[in-house]
Amino acid sequence: MSHDAPSVTVVIPVYNERGNIAALLERTLSACRGLGRSFELLLVDDGSRDGSSELLAQAARDHPGEVKAIILNRNYGQHNAILCAFAAAQGDILVTLDADLQNPPEEIGRLVATIDEGFDVVGSVRQDRHDAIFRKVFSGIINLMVRRTTGVKLHDYGCMLRAYRRRVVEAMLSCRERHTFIPVLANLFAKRVTEINVGHAERQEGTSKYSILKLVNLQFDLLTCMTTAPLRMLSWVGAGISALSIGFGGLLLILRVIYGPEWAEQGVFTLFAVVFFFIGVQFIALGMMGEYIGRIHADVRERPRYIVDRIVGETLGERAAPQEIRGRSA
Ligand code: UDP
Ligand code: MG
Repeated sequence: MSHDAPSVTVVIPVYNERGNIAALLERTLSACRGLGRSFELLLVDDGSRDGSSELLAQAARDHPGEVKAIILNRNYGQHNAILCAFAAAQGDILVTLDADLQNPPEEIGRLVATIDEGFDVVGSVRQDRHDAIFRKVFSGIINLMVRRTTGVKLHDYGCMLRAYRRRVVEAMLSCRERHTFIPVLANLFAKRVTEINVGHAERQEGTSKYSILKLVNLQFDLLTCMTTAPLRMLSWVGAGISALSIGFGGLLLILRVIYGPEWAEQGVFTLFAVVFFFIGVQFIALGMMGEYIGRIHADVRERPRYIVDRIVGETLGERAAPQEIRGRSA
């Protein structure tokens, strides 16, 4: 085992995956041992009720120095479980994958090798994806949306078989938001991002742990993690309605002049124009509030404003080290 190669932490969230754990452990451990560098495997039990936690605890006892089990007291969701393991991880490179063996653990080596090439985040694109058709269509739309909004040209945000450099993970951990979507969050702090093609398998045992409702919730986490554009959109809608109603009012005035008072039907249409104008103004007001809420949203998240890569040169000598690497809002 070489000591200079960066060490690797593999993180796997587990929620009612009893039937998968034995095979998962075997395949993941052999993939990790094949890396030729130090590693740890962190298994997080996300409040399983099927005895998975006992199996994980047993795995940790069976493989001391290699496996650690972190058992949460209840279900907090996949992304929270992963963040919990990130906080405990020791490795220089962190890899996540699913417990259901849809992501082949054998790909860990390639992910790590790609990080070694100098990337901060390595995602993966599921080739020949084995999921329900509606899931594929749904993710297609979501991925397109994320690409448009973030400008980061990745293809598959849903696939959790990913590798991160430690400093990106530390930046994610210092974010204070409670609802998050790890792959999108990671891109905020990564300089070089890439993705590799990986295989995708049928879920080995059990069923998907995402109900429709949970899935919709997750998409909202993704959306709000990424952008406040929907709040801002209210202003645009309002401005649009107001502008149209002003145009409509102008048109009414002209027609009234041309066709005389009989045509105007006692001002019914004028009333419409006035009402629409005020509806538009209300939307603009909502949008203004949205701007403030968006900023509150950003402030409570306390995301790091920046990460310093390095500082070159020295000026007024050394002062006491700053308490934090990140700037805080006043
Ligand atoms: N998972 C979790 N907590 C949850 C839901 C899922 O830890 O609340 C884990 C689950 O055990 C699996 C991974 O997250 O390891 C992905 O879940 P799943 O395979 O059910 O999602 P799908 O493949 O259907 O998107
Ligand atoms: Mg799955």
